[in-house]
Parts: sequence; structure tokens; C-alpha cells
Amino acid sequence: MVSEMIPERHPTVPVQVDGVTIGGGAPVVVQSMTNTDTADVEATVAQVAELARAGSELVRITVNNEAAARAVPAIRERLDAMDVNVPLVGDFHFNGARLLEKYAECAQALAKYRINPGNVGSGETRDASFAAMIEKAMEHGKAVRIGVNWGSLDKQLVARMMDENARSDEPLEADAMTREIMVTSALESAARAEALGLGRDRIVLSCKMSGVQDLIAVYRLLASRSDYALHLGLTEAGMGSKGIVASTAALAVLLQQGIGDTIRVSLTPEPGGDRTLEVKVAQQILQTMGLRDFTPHVIACPGCGRTTSTYFQELAQQIQDYLDARMASWRHQYPGVEALSVAVMGCVVNGPGESRHADIGISLPGTGERPAAPVYVDGEKRVTLKGEGIAEAFQEIVEAYVRERFGRS
Ligand code: SF4
Repeated sequence: MVSEMIPERHPTVPVQVDGVTIGGGAPVVVQSMTNTDTADVEATVAQVAELARAGSELVRITVNNEAAARAVPAIRERLDAMDVNVPLVGDFHFNGARLLEKYAECAQALAKYRINPGNVGSGETRDASFAAMIEKAMEHGKAVRIGVNWGSLDKQLVARMMDENARSDEPLEADAMTREIMVTSALESAARAEALGLGRDRIVLSCKMSGVQDLIAVYRLLASRSDYALHLGLTEAGMGSKGIVASTAALAVLLQQGIGDTIRVSLTPEPGGDRTLEVKVAQQILQTMGLRDFTPHVIACPGCGRTTSTYFQELAQQIQDYLDARMASWRHQYPGVEALSVAVMGCVVNGPGESRHADIGISLPGTGERPAAPVYVDGEKRVTLKGEGIAEAFQEIVEAYVRERFGRS
């Protein structure tokens, strides 16, 4: 039923990035970005590997100075030696053209270049710098993302368009004008790149903003005017639940309209926080919307007055941890296992019904109920677990089910 409700994707030209397809109807790609100093090879390799193992399919690293550009080939080599083949995207700004020219090995080691047209210089320097970066992409056979950011708009373009707007009979409001400038910046830059000889199948566009409604409006505009592959992301989404909720709200609306070929959830990590959270959130957005499957889905009721002990929460957590831990090897051993659904319910009110809808479900005893936990497999009651060791016994049932259903013949 869910698949019938999934919207048609906005048609875009597919872009190949070292074995990863962005756009053209391919599954929406999850990206992330490191926050290490790229010149610190060891720290950057460790974080890229961590992000890739969490499921990031492209990882962006900043290439902001000579030390960073020098480090990129070593980072690539070290990752390859570790069998971490995730493509690396280089984030370039003011000195990008010079770095790509001077460090050919860096230009070659990267799979894609991110260019912000508002941050490549001004006047003639801007055009020359942009052209030089596009030429490097063509020389090395790389894709580019033309990434417009509302915090760093091309000043000349802003001045020109504001001027035109002021002279117009029906001038746009400031917000609408900002969106127009962003879309124009992306499309004019893409047209310039194509005029220089870069194929449409090497160009991804993004227009990042920090307001949810602004982001939705700007991407609708972009999608209505082009068929370039689109990278989605709410910039400066924020910390903790605020960042997660804001990103989810914005991305979900666009994805539901079929807009977006690759996503990044830009979360500000809490001190000492886990950088891979942005990957997990991106995966969860796609999985909960039924767009992709990454990990078995655990349906757990929130608990209520019928589950007064912590036993239920502990069991739900144990099962989630167990599935997460097993996925590392299941992913290779049992293709398709990520579509598995497991229900962990707290009492007989909704427990058996929800358990029957999942592939495997367990309904734990609520307060005052008989201490027994019926287990359902493929909608049928299979066994009732009692006493100590319910979690272990349930895990064995899950393990056997996965082996039987997803094992290679
Ligand atoms: S399934 Fe039972 S325990 Fe869980 S929220 Fe519903 S009534 Fe409460």
C-alpha cells in the first residue's frame, strides 16, 4: 500500500560519481560531511570511515588550503587500503581553482567537486576562477555540485537582480527575490558550466537555505525550471532535536513531491557528539517515508500506564541494539534483510494486532496481565515465551527467521 503512495520522482539527468548514481530515478543517495581538519589525515580518514560504515554513500571534506589539498591523495589511499571505497567530494571556495591546478593528485583523488558560485571571487576573477574549476572537472572526468548558499550569494548577481526588480512594474517581495536570485545563480552557473563543455550528466545543483518554508519554495522553483540532479539539505539546521525536526520537515515535504536525488542532514554536533547521527537521521527520513530500506524496522509502542516497569523499554532497546549489531554481517549475508519489520509491543491492547502486521512481533505482558509474551511470525502466533530469558529466546527466533527467509540458497 505504501508503494502506491510514493510519489513519482521529478525527472532528472543521472550523474555518475564513482559508482554512485545521483538522479535519473536512482534511489535517493545519503551524503555527509566531515568536521575534521582535512590536513589531519589520520583524523579525517577515521571520520570518513565512520561515516561510510554508518551508511554515508558520499562523504564531503573541505579542501580549504594547501595542506588540505596535499592531504587528499593520502586520505584516499588510506581509505582504499581499509576497503572503504566511499567517494570523496571536495568542498572548494575562494582558492579552489588554484588548489585544483596546483595539486593534480588531489583533483584526481576526489570524485566530485562542490563549487559555491558566490564564493569563487568577484568580477572577472570570479568568471575565470569558476571556468578554471569546471575545466579541471572536465580534465579529470569529475562531476561537480554547483551549491548555492543563501549565506554567500554572488554579490554581483544580487546587485543586478535587485536593480532589475526595483525597476520592475511588479517587484517581488524580499523573500521571493532571494529565492529568485538563488535559483538564477544555480541555473546561470550550470549553463556556464555546460557552455564550457561540462556535460549535463556531470552537474548536480543545490540551493541551501536555513528556513524550512524557504527551502521548500526554492527547490520547487528549481525543480520546475530544470532537470539537473538535485542535492537537498537545510543549511544550519541546528543542534539536537531542533535540527532533526527542521531537516525532516523540509526534506520530507520535498521528497514527497518527488524532488531530491541526494540528501544531507546538516546537524551541529553537540560537544563530543556522534557525527554519524546525520547519516542515521538521513536514512531514517528515507526509510520512514518508504523510499529506501537501510535497517530492519522496529515498531515499538510508546508504553503507557499499562507498562509501569522499565522491563518493556529495556526489551525494546535490547532488540533494537541486537538488530543494529547484527546488520553489519546480515547486510552481506542476507540481501534484502533491511526490509524486515519487527514489532515490540507493551500489552495486549494493540500488541497482538501490531505484531501480526510485522514480519515478527512480540507482545509483552502489561501490568496485571498474565506473565506471557506471545510471538507472531508472518501474522501467525508461533509460540508464547515465559519466564526469564524472553529477550534471548526472541532473538533466536529472529535469527532463525532471517536465516530462513533471506539466506542465499
Ligand atoms: S500497546 Fe499497550 S502498553 Fe503499548 S501504548 Fe498501547 S496500551 Fe500502552
